[in-house]
Amino acid sequence: MARIVMKFGGTSVADLDRIRNVANRVKKEVDAGNQVSVFVSAMAGTTDRLVGYVEGISPMHDAREYDTVVSAGEQITSGLLAIALQDMGIPARSWLGWQMPMKTNKVHGAARIEDIGTEEIISRLEDGVVCVMAGFQGISDDNRITTLGRGGSDTSAVAMAAALNADRCDIYTDVDGVYTTDPRIVPKARKLDKITYEEMLEMASLGAKVLQTRSVAMAMNHGVRVQVLSSFEDKPGTLVVDEDEIVENQVVSGITYAKNEAQVIVVGVKNKPGIASDVFTLLADSNVNVDMIIQNETEDGKKTDLTFTVVESDLEKSKEVLEKAENIEFENIVTDDNVVKISVVGVGMRSHAGVAATMFKTLADKGINIQVISTSEIKISVLIDAEYTELAVRALHTAYGLDAE
Ligand code: ADP
Ligand code: ASP
Ligand code: MG
Repeated sequence: MARIVMKFGGTSVADLDRIRNVANRVKKEVDAGNQVSVFVSAMAGTTDRLVGYVEGISPMHDAREYDTVVSAGEQITSGLLAIALQDMGIPARSWLGWQMPMKTNKVHGAARIEDIGTEEIISRLEDGVVCVMAGFQGISDDNRITTLGRGGSDTSAVAMAAALNADRCDIYTDVDGVYTTDPRIVPKARKLDKITYEEMLEMASLGAKVLQTRSVAMAMNHGVRVQVLSSFEDKPGTLVVDEDEIVENQVVSGITYAKNEAQVIVVGVKNKPGIASDVFTLLADSNVNVDMIIQNETEDGKKTDLTFTVVESDLEKSKEVLEKAENIEFENIVTDDNVVKISVVGVGMRSHAGVAATMFKTLADKGINIQVISTSEIKISVLIDAEYTELAVRALHTAYGLDAE
């Protein structure tokens, strides 16, 4: 007997037939004698619709009420799945975030899990009840409902798997595993049998939304065995594992793209020591997360251009705070939200030279201009015009030998 956590995403619970299909999947695990906890997302499209309602009623809304509204989709699916299971003769009950409780901090819209009450869940599991839980939501110390950020049900499931000391956390979705790149834009993408936590973490944070970044970090820290697999087909998925479980590393394991980036160029900044510190301290104090950065001095060294990227939703704010700053002198600010960040990821990069050169040459051969570059130990990212997203990802996929036969 194993203790397992299963998580089903929005497309997997998109209508009543699919919820019945999920119930069948759960039944298989129950019939195999396992203790089963299940997390569900809202039906596909529901959370977007709820976000639309909140923005429609007031663009400058109270973040606590936003969470009250947008968490509602998961209440529906958790109840429906419990009913579907009961109809099949399986004892089941639903839990909302506050009932578990899934305790979080007070950062509404992007709350972090701090503690999970597992006593009641464990005792029900031991009685043979399937515990169906609403993903994405929690409760703060102030007794307010919180949400964990978009895609957060993955994190709910992994956190519960860690708290329950589960043997496995299976993430069921609309693709049958983690691919070398988004299979929806590269038909030749290849499914990976295994991927390291580290690579998965980079890929998630660089745009591969198949797992929420925080869920991967949590799995890595707590050694949770995560598997990504299809809700619709019965076949093995992708296991997220430690590096030593992978026999031979590819130099590049995956390619990602993130379209929600925006570029800011602060042109003609007076060049003096401390200027970068002034600019980036100001942005940090305004809660703007800066990603890629480059600085170019003019020939005489008197002025410099500072280029950086932020998430698209922070673009206006970044511009505004810089324009208001009295301690920073510059000529003007140029912004561009029509950009995409393309990244290549692989632990094999640590021991192989030439990975960056291949990337730059491949893009150059396609006539694609690189606007900003940033690297870390296991990834290289470039910022390019969004128009070339697909062309770039496909060309790189071929260049690194990742295409499926
Ligand atoms: P769910 O609703 O089940 O949480 P998501 O839409 O959040 O599903 O994540 C699954 C989607 O992630 C896939 O449909 C796919 O388009 C996208 N995706 C992006 N990059 C990858 C990748 N490297 N491997 C697999 N899927 C990816
Ligand atoms: N329903 C939430 C969202 O759409 C959480 C999730 O699906 O993981 O972001
Ligand atoms: Mg998701």
